Amino acid sequence: MLTILPIGCYGSDLDYKKCITMQITPSTVIDTGALLSSISTGDLLKIKNVIITHCHFDHIKNLPIFADFMLSMGNNSFNVYTTEAIWEQVKAHVFNDLIWPDFSSLPNKKSPTIRFFPIEFGKHFSLENISFLPIEMNHIVESVGFVIKKDHVAVAYSGDTSYCDNFIDHVNDDKDIKLLCWELSFPNRLKSIAEASKHLTPSMLDSELSKIKRKLPVHTFHLKPNLEEEIKHEISEMQTGMSVVAMKQKKPINVE
Ligand SMILES: [Zn+2]
Ligand SMILES: [Zn+2]
Repeated sequence: MLTILPIGCYGSDLDYKKCITMQITPSTVIDTGALLSSISTGDLLKIKNVIITHCHFDHIKNLPIFADFMLSMGNNSFNVYTTEAIWEQVKAHVFNDLIWPDFSSLPNKKSPTIRFFPIEFGKHFSLENISFLPIEMNHIVESVGFVIKKDHVAVAYSGDTSYCDNFIDHVNDDKDIKLLCWELSFPNRLKSIAEASKHLTPSMLDSELSKIKRKLPVHTFHLKPNLEEEIKHEISEMQTGMSVVAMKQKKPINVE
């Protein structure tokens, strides 16, 4: 069985609604938008693997503070998995010894707090018997989606994206995929903003789902929290024959 626990599943922060962090196991998370504020100190210390989908703030928001937390808790190190290009962006603009210290060389270069492991599109890597296949998505910056698989049960996770035939091809080609986690950011009336920022609206997602050759349940995430009710209403009016729901924070999604 594969479980995705949305620690934060929104495209911004508002009230209890948090930026993106998806927990795959107690020690592996995707993105750090909600990492610190929503997990207890004891559970934070169990996190060893942080996968970063792209450099946007809502996805890396708590990475600097998490690094500081881990170092100050006694030189606890953790691994960051992302592409070389994305890590260079994060290092150059966050861990640049100006905005925040370079925790990939603190407390020293030999045993740093952040250990970076490069990933490549199309090349599997495994963590705790779970396989991750990085997929190149169509976002305004380099962005990674994944096929996450354990024992022939898989979830396709889009990360941030606009229209993306590459993602659709992976879903159509892999019959192990039992569930789709797909970004959905703006209501239909804001399609121009969605297109300019390379995100999706319900009508855009509808057209993407029409290209999937079998029926699969869809959990949407990255809704703008202030527009949630409007987007959810439009989800209920989508034309696809698939079950589409908005992801609920702290409610685990089990796939078997
Ligand atoms: Zn985002
Ligand atoms: Zn983004």
